[in-house]
Amino acid sequence: MALIVQKYGGTSVGSVERIQAVAKKIKAFADNGDQLVVSVSAMSGETNRMTALAKDVQETPSLREMDVLLTTGEQVTISLLSMALQQLGCDAISYTGSQVRITTDSEHGKARIKSIDDHRIRESLEAGKVVVVAGFQGVDEDGHITTLGRGGSDTTAVALAAALNADECQIYTDVDGVYTADPRIEPKARKMNTVSYEEMLEMASLGSKVLQIRSVEFASKYKVPLRVLSSLIDNPVGTLITSEENIMEQAIISGIAHNIDEAKLSLIGVPDEPGIAYKILKPISEANIEVDMIVQSVSAREGLTNFAFTVHRNDFDKAQAILQSICDELSAMGVQTDDKVVKVSLVGIGMRSHAGIATQMFKVLHQENINIQMISTSEIKISVVIDEKYLELAVRSLHNAFELDKE
Ligand code: ADP
Ligand code: ASP
Ligand code: MG
Repeated sequence: MALIVQKYGGTSVGSVERIQAVAKKIKAFADNGDQLVVSVSAMSGETNRMTALAKDVQETPSLREMDVLLTTGEQVTISLLSMALQQLGCDAISYTGSQVRITTDSEHGKARIKSIDDHRIRESLEAGKVVVVAGFQGVDEDGHITTLGRGGSDTTAVALAAALNADECQIYTDVDGVYTADPRIEPKARKMNTVSYEEMLEMASLGSKVLQIRSVEFASKYKVPLRVLSSLIDNPVGTLITSEENIMEQAIISGIAHNIDEAKLSLIGVPDEPGIAYKILKPISEANIEVDMIVQSVSAREGLTNFAFTVHRNDFDKAQAILQSICDELSAMGVQTDDKVVKVSLVGIGMRSHAGIATQMFKVLHQENINIQMISTSEIKISVVIDEKYLELAVRSLHNAFELDKE
């Protein structure tokens, strides 16, 4: 008998028919004697719909009230899924995050899980029930409802699997695994059988939204065997995310990630002197804006330099206003901004031992006449910022040049 934690994403529970189909799949596991804890997302589109409603009512919606609102999406699906299971004769019970007691910090909208009380879940499992838990939500120490950030149901599932010491955590979605690139951008993307935690973490943080970053962090920290697979087909195999030592064949490049949420801001002609980066980025971080890439150029002319960085597009307006005031304070020459950029990244553990990958990447982009605006590298990734209109061309030509469609 195995203890399995499963998570079904928004598309997988997007209609009554889909919920019924998911219930059938779960029942088959239960009939097989496995113990099941199932975490679900809201029906697809619901979280976006409610976010838009909030914006119609309040200019900048209260973060606390947003969490009260958005968590209702998952409350709908846990109850419907439990009913669908009961209808099939499979005993099931649903719990919200606060009923389980998934305790988080108090950062509304992007709370982190601090602890999970497993006693209720264990009691229900021992009573022979399938336990259905609302994804994406928790409660802080004072009882306020919190959410874990977009895509947070993945993290709920992995954290539950870690807390319960489950045999496997299965993330069911609308694709059968992790591909060498987003299959919506590159139809020739190939499904990978295994991916290391480290590469998956890099892919997720570089924009591959198939898994929320924090879910991969949890899986890696607690060594949770994690599988991504399709809820839309029978007998899916999916992709196993596991430790590097369990991976037999390691390609140099495993995948291409892209992020369309980037916006670029530059301060032109600032004095090239100690403290400049600090003076520019301090007010940005004080406004709670996360900075991604940073590039400071070599002094272009006598004692002046340019300083550029990227932020999430949601923070673009706020960052632009702050940078304008810094520009005046530092008597810089001007501010330049562009919110029509994307980041494309090559990821692979094999890069550690192979030189020349960056050069090869730049050559491909040059051949396609794609201008690189910013570059950043680490041991296992190379990222470039380019104009958003070249996104598909860049992903597809890199995929082709590095032969990622071949095993
Ligand atoms: P869910 O609602 O099930 O959580 P998501 O939309 O969050 O589903 O994640 C699944 C989607 O992730 C896929 O439909 C796919 O377009 C996208 N995706 C991005 N990068 C990848 C990748 N490398 N492999 C697979 N899917 C990816
Ligand atoms: N419903 C939430 C979202 O759309 C959480 C999730 O689906 O994982 O982001
Ligand atoms: Mg998701």
